Amino acid sequence: MATQGVDTLLLSLGLDLPYLTGYHAMPLERLTMLVVPRDGEATMVIPRLEAPRVAEQPGVFSLLAWSETENPVALVARLVGAARVVAFGDQAWARFLVELLPLLPHVEFRRSVDVVGPLRMAKDPSEIAALRAAGSAVDRIAAQLQAGLIPLVGRTEAEVSADLGARIVAEGHQVVNFAIVAAGENAASPHHTPGSRVIRAGELVLCDFGGTMNGYCSDITRCVSLGRPPSEVQAAYEVLHEAQAAAVRAAVVGTPCEEIDRAARRIIEQAGFGEYFVHRTGHGIGMDAHEDPYIVEGNRRPLEAGHAFSIEPGIYLPGRWGMRLEDIVVAAAEGPDPLNRVDHSLVVLDV
Ligand code: ZN
Ligand code: ZN
Ligand code: ZN
Repeated sequence: MATQGVDTLLLSLGLDLPYLTGYHAMPLERLTMLVVPRDGEATMVIPRLEAPRVAEQPGVFSLLAWSETENPVALVARLVGAARVVAFGDQAWARFLVELLPLLPHVEFRRSVDVVGPLRMAKDPSEIAALRAAGSAVDRIAAQLQAGLIPLVGRTEAEVSADLGARIVAEGHQVVNFAIVAAGENAASPHHTPGSRVIRAGELVLCDFGGTMNGYCSDITRCVSLGRPPSEVQAAYEVLHEAQAAAVRAAVVGTPCEEIDRAARRIIEQAGFGEYFVHRTGHGIGMDAHEDPYIVEGNRRPLEAGHAFSIEPGIYLPGRWGMRLEDIVVAAAEGPDPLNRVDHSLVVLDV
């Protein structure tokens, strides 16, 4: 906070609060807000009925429980006091900021990510272990997919998505975050919503899935071909595979994030697919499925040891087909450490 010139940090919904305290605020209309002054003890302003769920931590934060007839925003404003620069939770309800603004007319507001983002980005060994365990779990599911153990032909995308979700839980995740299943032309939409489309022989099927295991996220994408793919698809996949591997190799401590994006994009552009790679190369991952650092042109932040992020280039031909290849990688002092190790090739399944 001192480095950023922030006097007070206000955290509510979102994962900054549990990152610092272990407590998840209820995503409800009643305000829960941790007020952290630069100096002195923090205070958690909390609805009286939620207070029994929180253990006060002397020396870390105290509790200030508010009753139903009190105005909790006024309590927060009083705690902010004479602070001039306040960082406000990125995912806190806007209504509380709207109510706070007139009570603190002289305050300059910033985003909480300015303060908490750099802390959350640099994963410690226990966080990397948690990411690795979640990554291994989805690797096992991807291996089942590549072994033909997850039926595809004749099922709808939605059925396969539900199947993947059940396997995500069976492999130890508490929460399924997403299970994209996109067949044929549907895979040209990177975040396709799995629907009633029946998967057929001869198609490429893209599966991008992940969940949260013990507070940390997994996220993997693999494609399988139901029968031998057309040579054009096979050739495009080889470009994608090479681009993904080049970006993983580039993920060395000290390298700016945008250079990792360029490492993948250069290869896809040289093969003539540049206009079909319509998104950044990756996103940070941790407690949130998407967080800093973003692997995107314009992000000059150099990778630090402990940064964890996806590397997931894709090629999407509208109306025809789409493909993406995604691993989570940790920038380790010894070099790039991919947490997903399952086969990267375009596995062809007998149909
Ligand atoms: Zn109720
Ligand atoms: Zn993904
Ligand atoms: Zn991802």
